[in-house]
Amino acid sequence: MNPELKQKIEKRAYEIYQERLKKGISGSALGDWLCAEAEILKDRRMNDGCPRCGRKLLALQDKYVICLNPGCDWKIEAKRMEDFKLPKAVEVKKLWE
Ligand SMILES: [Zn+2]
Repeated sequence: MNPELKQKIEKRAYEIYQERLKKGISGSALGDWLCAEAEILKDRRMNDGCPRCGRKLLALQDKYVICLNPGCDWKIEAKRMEDFKLPKAVEVKKLWE
């Protein structure tokens, strides 16, 4: 990832973190980062977010759409065309390491 883009995501992740604190919503630095990344990376489809936790952290794993928010285990079988355009869970998880 290029440093300029990384800096943008870091800045946005910090804003999300602050908004989250203000609203008293529990979460993690990782969740904030992924949310910021989803907003900033334009080639990554913006999705409706997780029906359970509301975070835009949906990814495709095998034939399922899963939520990557730590602590949320929402999962559904991928059926729609849009589902298959989601980022792959393994690719997203590579960024966590
Ligand atoms: Zn969720």
